[in-house]
Amino acid sequence: MSQPQGPPPAYQQAGYPPQGQHSSNVVVVTQQPQPQVVAVGTCARCGIGHVSDNFTVLGIILAICFFPLGVLCCFLLMEKRCDRCGAAF
Ligand SMILES: [Zn+2]
Repeated sequence: MSQPQGPPPAYQQAGYPPQGQHSSNVVVVTQQPQPQVVAVGTCARCGIGHVSDNFTVLGIILAICFFPLGVLCCFLLMEKRCDRCGAAF
């Protein structure tokens, strides 16, 4: 009685993990809405110009006519104006 000595049969390859059946990894790329960051001194309208405080003509006239109280009015009448598009804020 001689039993065949050989390599083990191929059924040991059972239990091999099936390839190509990855679980559905759904990558959801969510674009987070970025808040509009308006830097200080940057115009919110054109986004390029710089907003600077300017004395209005009326404020200057008040400052001259009603000095020194007019100066206070002059500061109160200051307006922020873009030096590029001229938008007042
Ligand atoms: Zn502007």
